[in-house]
Order: sequence, then structure tokens, then C-alpha cells
Amino acid sequence: MQPKLIIHGGAGSSLQGKGGVEAVRKLLYGILEEVYGLLKEGASASDAVVRGCQLLENEPRFNAGTGSVLQSDGQIRMSASLMDGHRQRFSGVINVARVKNPIDLALRLQAEDDRVLSDQGSAELLRELQLPIYNPLTDLRLNEWMEERKGNFHRTMAGVIAEPEAAPGRDPEAGRGTIGVVALDQDGHLAAGTSTGGKGFERIGRVSDSAMPAGNYANGQGAVSCTGIGEDIIEECLAARIVIRVTDGLSLQTAFEKSMQEAGANGRDLGAIGLDRTGVIAWGKTSEVLLGAYHSGDKLGDTLELEPGVQVGRLY
Ligand code: ASP
Repeated sequence: MQPKLIIHGGAGSSLQGKGGVEAVRKLLYGILEEVYGLLKEGASASDAVVRGCQLLENEPRFNAGTGSVLQSDGQIRMSASLMDGHRQRFSGVINVARVKNPIDLALRLQAEDDRVLSDQGSAELLRELQLPIYNPLTDLRLNEWMEERKGNFHRTMAGVIAEPEAAPGRDPEAGRGTIGVVALDQDGHLAAGTSTGGKGFERIGRVSDSAMPAGNYANGQGAVSCTGIGEDIIEECLAARIVIRVTDGLSLQTAFEKSMQEAGANGRDLGAIGLDRTGVIAWGKTSEVLLGAYHSGDKLGDTLELEPGVQVGRLY
């Protein structure tokens, strides 16, 4: 079966100018090429998803791993999850600190009886695995937090991606920069992974959708990764909602359309990417922008310049 791959670097408000769009496109395509290469060599969907998440986490412009946003108390707490669709198995970590790739912990937990760990459990696991202590803080995110502190955190979220030139005049409603990867491998197996630094400036202990089935879900029929306001995603139970609709017989395209229309009508601010087991690639959003890109085996494409508002697309 021809592998398929779709990735995202968050949803939110508009990128500043074409320079921003081109830079993000280049970044996303580079990652697509590398991960698609693995799938072509026979990597499993889960392995490809983990590699894709690592690459996106390592990219400081996105809000996951290195470059994660700071919470209201100036600390970084990250969340990540992996769902192997073939085994229908979900694992994840919530509010973990001082690790380079939170997705590695999610991968490790796939083999455990206890598969979702909160902050304390994640810290224990880190110690157990003897992973090196890592500080994901970047100057850009620190400055963003310090600016915001002066204004007493009036913004509800940090910027969609770290853009040095865009910081001062940026849309105060801004956006997010969570990352996600969804893959279909040669054996027809699906997987989804999502990783985030959270919304930015949030209360200590706030839990993101990214390590919940609402934000990241897969089974044998479909796989979806979400981004946007976590509370909105949770209340729509978006990833599981789309995948279950496909499981019950809707096409992936229709499942996205229906779910995005409902989310739009509920005033939600979110986006999602997905695949089904036949290789259909789909995406949808209610937000202004969705930083998605896909590789069909024949061509690469992206969702960087969609119209604002509810939009759904697919590639057969
Ligand atoms: N969904 C993430 C959260 O609310 C943020 C994002 O997608 O950028 O934690």
C-alpha cells in the first residue's frame, strides 16, 4: 500500500506576510520528505509518527519540545501522546518538564500497563529512563513571556509560531503552534501523534487536549491529530468524534465536514488533520490558519493559505 503522511505545526491567526508562509512551508516540507522516506523504506506508522514529532519538537519555531511556550508562572510544561491505530493503543504524558522530546515518553509508555502519566509520574519515568535533563526554553519564548507579564497576561494564548520580527505588532489574539503527525504505512496501519507546550500563560496544572483522545486518536479506520484551543477541542471531543464517524461508515471528508460545521456553529477555534485506511488525506479548521502539510507519495501540498473560517479539504 502507498504510504500517506500529514503533519501540522498548529492553528491560529494569520502568519505575518509571505516571508512567514514560505519559511514555514520549507520547514514542513523538509520534515515531510524525511519522514515519508522512512515510510517508503517500510517504517511502521507509529515509528514514522514518532520521528515526525521529534523533528517538529526539535524545531524552535513550533510550540512543542524546544520552543515551547511558558505558562503563567514562567515554567514550561509539555504534553504529548501517541496512538497506534492498529493496536488501538493510546499513551501519553501530561505537563512534563526538562525533557527534549516528550513524544519519546509517550512511545515508551505504549508498552506499559499504565499508559498516561501526569507531571509527577512523567518526572519519575524520566529518571527511570535516565534521559538527560534538557531545557526547552528559547530566548524568543522567554521574551514573549516577559512582554506579556508587563501587560499582566491579558492575552489568552502565545503566538502560533515564534516569529522574531512579528512579536511587537502581532495580533493579540494570536494562535498556537502545537505539532501533530498522522501516518498510514505500507501495511495499511494508521497512527497519530500530537505534542504541545500548551496555550501559553495558562494556570499551573491546566491540562491540554494534546494528551487526550479528544486531541489525538486513531484506530484501524482513521487517525486524527488536533490543534487549537484545547478546551474547545475537548468539548467537541474532536479527534475521537471524527474517527468514530469514519468507523461508523462516513467518509473521512464527510466526517471532517460535519465535525467542523458543528465546531464552527459552537464558536470553536481549532483545526485537525487526518487519514483513513484507504489513504484519503483530510484537514479541517474553524480557526483563521492551519499550518498543515501532506505527502501523498505523488505530491506534496499544504494548508498554509486557506481562507479564514470553517474550511475542509481532502486529497484522494
Ligand atoms: N491544543 C493545545 C492546547 O490547548 C494548543 C495548540 O494546539 O496549540 O494545549
